Amino acid sequence: MRGRSRLSARCLSRIRCGLLLAIVWLPGPACAASALDPQQVLDQLHNVQVDPGQIYVLRHAQLTRDRVKLFFNRGYIGFFTTVAGEITGAVYTGEGEILLIPPTQVEKASLARFVHSPILEEQFSTAILRFTDRTAKELMAVGVRPESDDPERPPDFPQRWNSSPRVFALEDSPRIFQDLLGDSNMPFFHARLEGNSLKWFDVVDDERSPEAVSVIAARRNADDLFADCWCAFPSKASAARFAYLMPGTVKALAYDIDTRLEPDNTMKGHAELLLESLSNTDRVLTFDFSRLLNVSQVLNERGESLTAYSYPQQEDIEAGDQNKGWIQVVLAAPHPVGEKFRLRFSYQGNVITNVGNNVLYVGERGGWYPNLGLGSPASFDLNFDYPENLTLVATGARIEEDAASGRKHSRWRSDGVFRVAGFNLGPYHSVERRVGPTTVEVYATREAEAALEERHTRRLVPHFVLPGSPRDHDPPLSIAPDAVPPLAPAALLQSVAESTSEAIEYFEHLFGPFPYSRLAISQIPGNFGQGWPELVYLPTLSFLRKSERYDLGLPEKSEDLLSHGMVAHEIAHQWWGNLLGWATYHDQWLSEGLATYAAALELSREKGGDHRFHELLRGYKLDLLSKGKNGMTNEASGPIWLGQRLSNSLTPDGYDTIVYKKACWVLHMLRGLLRDPSTGSDQKFFHLLRDFVAANQGTSVSTEDFVRHAGKYMTHSSDLEHNHRLDWFFNEWVYGTGIPTYKLESNVKQLSPKTFVIQGAITQSGVSSDFEMLVPVVAEIGKEKKASLGSVAVSDDAGRFKFTTTTRPKRIAIDEDNLLAITEP
Ligand SMILES: [Zn+2]
Repeated sequence: MRGRSRLSARCLSRIRCGLLLAIVWLPGPACAASALDPQQVLDQLHNVQVDPGQIYVLRHAQLTRDRVKLFFNRGYIGFFTTVAGEITGAVYTGEGEILLIPPTQVEKASLARFVHSPILEEQFSTAILRFTDRTAKELMAVGVRPESDDPERPPDFPQRWNSSPRVFALEDSPRIFQDLLGDSNMPFFHARLEGNSLKWFDVVDDERSPEAVSVIAARRNADDLFADCWCAFPSKASAARFAYLMPGTVKALAYDIDTRLEPDNTMKGHAELLLESLSNTDRVLTFDFSRLLNVSQVLNERGESLTAYSYPQQEDIEAGDQNKGWIQVVLAAPHPVGEKFRLRFSYQGNVITNVGNNVLYVGERGGWYPNLGLGSPASFDLNFDYPENLTLVATGARIEEDAASGRKHSRWRSDGVFRVAGFNLGPYHSVERRVGPTTVEVYATREAEAALEERHTRRLVPHFVLPGSPRDHDPPLSIAPDAVPPLAPAALLQSVAESTSEAIEYFEHLFGPFPYSRLAISQIPGNFGQGWPELVYLPTLSFLRKSERYDLGLPEKSEDLLSHGMVAHEIAHQWWGNLLGWATYHDQWLSEGLATYAAALELSREKGGDHRFHELLRGYKLDLLSKGKNGMTNEASGPIWLGQRLSNSLTPDGYDTIVYKKACWVLHMLRGLLRDPSTGSDQKFFHLLRDFVAANQGTSVSTEDFVRHAGKYMTHSSDLEHNHRLDWFFNEWVYGTGIPTYKLESNVKQLSPKTFVIQGAITQSGVSSDFEMLVPVVAEIGKEKKASLGSVAVSDDAGRFKFTTTTRPKRIAIDEDNLLAITEP
C-alpha cells in the first residue's frame, strides 16, 4: 500500500557497519580543473589509519556543534592520516560526556521514547570522529603530547584501531569526498560514541542536510536491524540555508532513458540526464542507483569519460533492502549555479525476476536508472526494446509502439513532471476502457506466480500426495493437479477495470479532474501495491475472486483492503502523492493518510457501505489502541509528523499504524470539525481538499501548508482558541500523541409533549491538561439509529451541554464513529 519513499533526513542513512565494501571504479581522465586527483583522494580516504605520530592527551576539552556539546574530560586521542592534506577523523578513548537538548517538544518527546529523558546526557568511553570541519584544529590546540612513560596511556592505543576491519575506514567516505573536492562551507561532523549506559550511538551535524543535527542508533528487534532516530532537527545554519527545501548539488530537469531487455531478463540501459547546477563549487554528484546494475561509463557532454564509483548502502542491505545503492560521479570541473549540463550513463544488469508461471517481478522499481530521488521532479522520455511475447507498461503516456523481427519497441512520455518513473511487464492480457477523457488499461497474466499457485493448490487439496510417493502400501491418492483450476488473474481484468473506473469517477468528484491522460493498472507478484504516476502496481491477490482469497487462507479482515481498498488507495495516489508530492518525510502522511481515507470513502459509496466504512475505521481504532509488549498503545509510537522514523526497533510497525491508520482518523475528524452543524453538510471539507489540489498541483506540500489551508474552511465552533486557526487540532493530532478518554453524564427533562431538554457534561482524562477537542454527541433514538445533537468543546474543564429534542432519546452518547477516543460508560 505504500509508495516508495525516501527519508530526506540523514536518519536512516546513518547506520553503518564496519565491513569493507567492494568499490567499483570507473577511472576518468586526469582532472585538469583541480589539483586533486579524485582517485587518489578516494584511495587515501579508504585507507585512513590512526597516525601514531598524531597522538594527544585531552583534559577538559570541549567541542560544540550546534546544540551538541561533547566533553573530552580525560583521555587519549589519535588523529587519522591525512587525505588530500586534511585530517578527516580521530579516535578518542577515555572519559567523555555528551549533552544535547533538542529544540522542540516533538524532538524532546522522541528522544525520551528511546532514552527515557528529554535531554541526552551520557558518559562515553570511546568516540570515533569523522569530519570535514575544524575538529582536528580545535582539539589539537588544547591537546598535549603524551609522555612516553605515561601510565594512563591505554596499552593498545592506537594499534587496536589500525587492525582490520577498521570501523571508520569507509562509511563516511562519500560524504567527506564531496567536501574535499567541492564546497567545504557546509561541513560534516559525525561522532560515534560508546555510551556507558546507552551503548553505541551516532551524533551527526551534516550541514548539507536540512535536518543537520541527528542522533541515530542501530538497534535490533528480533532479526531486523533499525536505524532508530532519537532526534533530528535543523541546525541554526542549515535552517537558514534550506528552509526545508531538499538540498543538493544539482537538480534534475529531464531524463531520457533507453532500455533494452533480453529474453533472459537482463537489461542494458543508457540514461541521459539534463541537470541544473545548484552549486558553484561542488564537483561530486550523488545518484541513487540499484546495486543490481553495473555502470560501465559516465560521459559528459563533450564525450569525456568521468570518474564514477558505486557501492551499496550497507545500512539498506542490513535493513532488508538489498538492492539500494549509490553512484558518485566526479565532474571535471564545477558548473556555475543555474548552468544546465548533461550526463550520459551506460549500465547493465538484471532487475527482473521470473517468479514462476511466466510472471515477472520488477524488483527495482525505483533504482533501475540513476536518479536524484523523489525530491527532484523532472520530465521523462522512456524508450524500451523487449521481446515480442511481452507487454510492457510504463509511467507516462505511450506515444509509440511497434514490433519487428521478434522484438517490440515502445516509448513513454511523462504528462508533466514526475518524481519517479517505472515500468512493469509480462505476458499480459489486457482490457481498455474510457472514463471521460481518461484511458484506463488493466494488465494481468493468465496464471498467478508459482508461490501463490502452490499455496492455492496446497490448500485446496490438503492431502495431495505426489503419485508414486512412498507412503505405506496404499495406492497414492490420485488427484491429478489439473483437478484444481489454477488461479487466473487475467480472468478478472474486466472487474478490476470496473472498480478502477468507478474509483476514478468518484475521486474526480472529490478531488477534481484526473491528473493524467491515462492510467495503467498492472499486476505485480507479492502482497503490496504502489501508485505511480499513470501506472499502478497491484498485487496478484487483488486480481483474485473473494472465494479464491478465502481459499488461500487470507483473513476476512483483509478483504475490503485487497478488493476495493488497495485499488482505490493506489488510484487516490494519482492526486495525493503524484500530482501533489510531499515536501519532506514529515509530510508524507498527507499522501498516505489521504489515500487511505479516500479508499475508505470509496468503500462507503456501495450498498451497506456506510457500515463497512465505520467498520474499517473501528478496526483502525482498535489497532491504534491495542498495546505492545511495553504496555503502551500503538498510538503512543509517536506523532504522525515523525513519518518513517515511527518504524524503529521499539515499534517496527509504527509507520503503518500511525501514518496510515491514525492519519486516516485525523482526516475523518477534520471532516467532522468542518461539518455544518445545522445541515450536517460536509461540503466544506471536500471543498478544502479540492481547492488544496487545485492550488498546489505540481508542487510538494508540507504539513504547514495543509494546516494553513485548512484554517480557511474552519467553522465558528471549531475555533476553540479564538484565533481563526486550527493549529490546536493539528498540534494535538499530528504533532502530538495521545488518545483521550471521555466520560459523559446527562439527564433528560421533558418540558412539553414534544420538547425534551438534555443536559450534561463530558469530562476528559488520559491526555495532557492542555488537550482540547470538539466532541460530537448523538442521541440514540431507535435500534441502530442515532441522530447528531451537536458538538461539545471539552478541555481540562468539563464540557457542559444542553440540547433540545422533539422525541425522548433512548440514550445520549459520544459519537464513537466520528471520534478517535475511548469512551467510559
Ligand atoms: Zn499509499
